[in-house]
Amino acid sequence: MIEYPNYDSKVNYLLESRKIFLFNQVLQQKIQNIKDQNSLLEQQLIQPQKKQRRKANEISKIYKCTQCEKSYGSEASLNLHSKLKHPMIESESKTQIEQSFQI
Ligand SMILES: [Zn+2]
Repeated sequence: MIEYPNYDSKVNYLLESRKIFLFNQVLQQKIQNIKDQNSLLEQQLIQPQKKQRRKANEISKIYKCTQCEKSYGSEASLNLHSKLKHPMIESESKTQIEQSFQI
């Protein structure tokens, strides 16, 4: 027979489920980062010439800002930078891209 756990009135189940939900989102972001790094490594394997020309500090910072010279090691860091430093420019360029696709 399977023994089910009893409902514990001391536990805040809503808070616990929120924690799990947020933790899950962090994990999914990490998985996406690893996937991105993986695809970058695969590209570098296919094109070894480009890899050799790159400087060591550039390899780890693959996410380059389109508005300035800054670059970051993860997409999340770049998104955060864009939101903080270029909130208007980012939205303008997005609509420009969307408009160019509607032609
Ligand atoms: Zn920037």
